[in-house]
Amino acid sequence: MPEAAKFYGLQITRSGMACCPFHEDGKPSMKIYEDHYYCFGCGATGDCTGFVSKLFGISQLDAAKKISHDFGLNLFNGEIAVPVNERVRTENNYHVWLRNARATVTEYLHRLDEWRRIYKPINQSEQLNPLFVESLQKTSYIEYLADLLSYGTEQEKRDLYKINSNTIMQIQKRLDKLAAVKEHTVKHKLI
Ligand SMILES: [Zn+2]
Repeated sequence: MPEAAKFYGLQITRSGMACCPFHEDGKPSMKIYEDHYYCFGCGATGDCTGFVSKLFGISQLDAAKKISHDFGLNLFNGEIAVPVNERVRTENNYHVWLRNARATVTEYLHRLDEWRRIYKPINQSEQLNPLFVESLQKTSYIEYLADLLSYGTEQEKRDLYKINSNTIMQIQKRLDKLAAVKEHTVKHKLI
């Protein structure tokens, strides 16, 4: 069960918890046991085959075939990859996206706040730090996004997902870049 959960995109904490893909899960409330899963949030439960069946919107038999195919188990004669139910998969993807989008926007907002405090110019002649400028330029828009992702209507959130998910991806890229720069700096200090 844990292997399948990981394979199909869940991140499992050390205590065996993961964010549930079947409801809008803010913190990990799904417990992944060796042979089954149980969500303390929405009550979803089942074995490994049931999990894959629910995740992709396919029958139990097709789920078993899919697991066999994806893990190279060869349990079925002439097995082929099973087509997944696009609608169900999209729905589950949306919940996962929403959770990640919230985390991304919150983290970026936190950075912006920090920069505005740390890099605040002391006198007028000082060159403005680029991070301070970034904070001035981005904060209100990012606050708007954070608000929308937490308190917006279902429609607003889904629109952002469908039409404008690129925005979130760009923020994620920005954070990745910052993390890379930080890692680079740390390595150099160690040398
Ligand atoms: Zn759940």
